[in-house]
Amino acid sequence: RKGCVVITGASSGLGLATAKALAETGKWHVIMACRDFLKAKRAAKSAGITKENYTIMHLDLSSLDSVRQFVDTFKRSGRPLDVLVCNAAVYLPTAKEPSYTAEGFELSVGTNHVGHFLLSRLLLDDLNQSDYPSKRLIIVGSVTCTNSYGGSVCIHREHRYLGWECTSQGQSRGLERSRRGLNRLNTSSMINGGDFDGAKAYKDSKVCNMLTMQEFHRRYHEETGITFASLYPGCIATTGLFREQIPLFRLLFPPFQKYITKGYVSGDEAGKRLGCGRTKLDQIGCLLSWNKDSASFENQLSEEASDEKKALKMWEISEKLVGLA
Ligand code: NDP
Repeated sequence: RKGCVVITGASSGLGLATAKALAETGKWHVIMACRDFLKAKRAAKSAGITKENYTIMHLDLSSLDSVRQFVDTFKRSGRPLDVLVCNAAVYLPTAKEPSYTAEGFELSVGTNHVGHFLLSRLLLDDLNQSDYPSKRLIIVGSVTCTNSYGGSVCIHREHRYLGWECTSQGQSRGLERSRRGLNRLNTSSMINGGDFDGAKAYKDSKVCNMLTMQEFHRRYHEETGITFASLYPGCIATTGLFREQIPLFRLLFPPFQKYITKGYVSGDEAGKRLGCGRTKLDQIGCLLSWNKDSASFENQLSEEASDEKKALKMWEISEKLVGLA
């Protein structure tokens, strides 16, 4: 039988390129889990993905009701789940004020982390039941979570600090702080209780993604045989992810990545990488990246993104926030 892969945010950029790469092999049926049905349909058509190789299912990660609804629709479809790719993300680096999800989480953390956390928890059993030889849960990572040059340039020192040990009030509230109104004394939308900073909120969400992947691995890999991993396929400097950046940044960022950092990768190549054509399947519980010669290697996660205690705490808080505990 064909494998069945669910890809979130498959309506553009990396998600679409991955859907295309997998569909083209003829070995996969792709569930495009997208918030905008028509956009996804148009995208699939323009990428040349043939009808029999994909299904679009509605998923808005910024609403936990929508996540539950998606899981229900997927389960009712009767398809097996062999691979889940948590790819969708929002990045709001120029926002002056926070925006919020349906349940009141700051939008970047709420979409990129909280929505995916619930989704992957609710689909774990389906993955576990798959008889596919290399069933996988992949969470797309970011250079901002690594000790690489890119990581250290991208992250301002305090951006490394999620801040659940010590806030300005000296209390430990952590991720709960991203939920507006949870603590009436705290009006901050940021995980560390600080002033709103859209770029940091994205980086925080990606750190949460990395901690989630590792905690999944620790809890479930041995018992289920599922591979839990993260991939950073390179900088695809031209995707919609940077749509909120100022025009000058959008103009200069692609050549900067191509010629200075040499971290640039085309959407098609990144799609093939994430589509696992060149993934070393034995690398589990880690962040897989690619070097300039397209060879994959295990990237070293930053201290923050690999802190086991923090991962445990983040997991427990996230479970409570999505209503699983
Ligand atoms: P895009 O903006 O092109 O794609 C993001 C996708 O996420 C879109 O399909 C978007 O949907 C979807 N999305 C956003 N919000 C929601 C939501 N609430 N519910 C469901 N889907 C949603 O960016 P990229 O392709 O570049 O990003 C994909 C992944 O790659 C992200 O995880 C990002 O962090 C990661 N990444 C990208 C890098 C790059 O260089 N581009 C570098 C490092 C990591 P819609 O089409 O409707 O807007």
